[in-house]
Amino acid sequence: MTDFDKLGVAKPFQIALKAKGYSQPTPIQENAIPYILDGKDLLGLAQTGTGKTAAFAVPLLQRLLESRFRAAPKSVRSLILTPTRELADQITKNIKAYTGRTKMYTSCVVGGVPFPPQFRALQRGLDVLVATPGRLLDLHRKNGVNFDELEVFVLDEADQMLDLGFIAELEEIACLLPKKRQTLFFSATMPPEIRDLADRFLTDPVEVSTAPPATTVETVTQKIAHLENDAKYPLLKELLSKEECEHALVFTLTKKGSARLAARLNADDVPAEAIHGDMSQAERQKTLDKFKRGKLNTLVATDVAARGIDVDDISHVINYDMPNATENYVHRIGRTARAGKSGTAITFCLPEDRGMLRAVQKLIGKKIEEMEGFTFFPSDREPKTARSNGYTAGKKAKTSGPRKGPGKGAAKGAGKGKFAQKAKASSTDKSGKKTPPRRSSGGPSGNARAQTGGTTGYLKRK
Ligand code: AMP
Repeated sequence: MTDFDKLGVAKPFQIALKAKGYSQPTPIQENAIPYILDGKDLLGLAQTGTGKTAAFAVPLLQRLLESRFRAAPKSVRSLILTPTRELADQITKNIKAYTGRTKMYTSCVVGGVPFPPQFRALQRGLDVLVATPGRLLDLHRKNGVNFDELEVFVLDEADQMLDLGFIAELEEIACLLPKKRQTLFFSATMPPEIRDLADRFLTDPVEVSTAPPATTVETVTQKIAHLENDAKYPLLKELLSKEECEHALVFTLTKKGSARLAARLNADDVPAEAIHGDMSQAERQKTLDKFKRGKLNTLVATDVAARGIDVDDISHVINYDMPNATENYVHRIGRTARAGKSGTAITFCLPEDRGMLRAVQKLIGKKIEEMEGFTFFPSDREPKTARSNGYTAGKKAKTSGPRKGPGKGAAKGAGKGKFAQKAKASSTDKSGKKTPPRRSSGGPSGNARAQTGGTTGYLKRK
């Protein structure tokens, strides 16, 4: 008897879970599955990476299978609403894996792809529809879908829905759903506005929580690098060149920022690709698949685009730009250390980011340690103190003179990676004479900076 068996999970699903390599339920699965099988409404406070997809998908499918009811054309028996296309796609893949041995129909409707195949899929009636709010409403307005036979409604990542401004769509969708239904509501954080939203959707719910609100995954080693803008790019390159940094997800605040940063890394022979909301669904999927299959080591993403990224072996999350909302910090770092693995999250903190850092630390209830082993000085300025001019922790750090780019101290402190070598070469030659900076230096006086026309560094905060 497996542990899933003890929770009441039926044989076909036990087999599917085993095939996915899940031998033991995660805490959210253990806590949520029996209640969902019982038909209860559920409020799940669960971070990303905790196994919440199986926690709701398996009992939902089992309930649908037990009633053996066939949906009428254009009707859906269950609806799973997600904030992003990637997450919708991920959930759909999971559902299809669980329903492989059953005759259940699942489809996914998201924006950015043509309507006709989505209309056709809905025509026959579905057991499970996974959707993003905008496209779902479009299809409903075009008479492509109705909810008359809806039995179960799942709202996933509710906090992100609100962050993305989907509140009006959610309210519209809520009015379309039958009152008699089972509702499962998941959120990684539970600020008062999410609780209000949950109250509107749920009836007498059971609350399950895998962690106190906004605590961060224990197995993530979190570090902070205090630095100035000019030092961000050289530090990023150094981190990416390290052997242990096998699979890195780098966060920027803006779509343009992610595209530019990926382009700059590529120009410096560091293979990287960006994923952001301005790309077509097909492009995003292609990039994501490459990253998942390990054919791409570095992915640069915005908060929104990263939502659906479900990759188990991300070794490093690098917050190149500080998040602009404290909850996003939790979401970002939750991308590493998934499925019981460990991971590292490094956050670049500019002097103007320190307020946000304090807020993040308050939210997670602990102080994030400073990163050791790197020496970065901002630009051509004489550092007054190491701390006020950037980040200095390397034992061999020289603090005595003005520097261009990452400089010697940076190369030494940062290890022996090939980028460390380049960084060194870009600032001084053997005789100590300044040489023209190479494009790869990324330093404050380098060509890259000149090309972007910036005076304060590569990425401007918006
Ligand atoms: P989720 O929070 O649903 O996105 O799942 C996070 C990761 O954990 C996914 O990569 C799943 O494949 C994995 N996972 C989910 N449930 C289990 C389980 N019971 N045992 C091992 N891995 C799991």
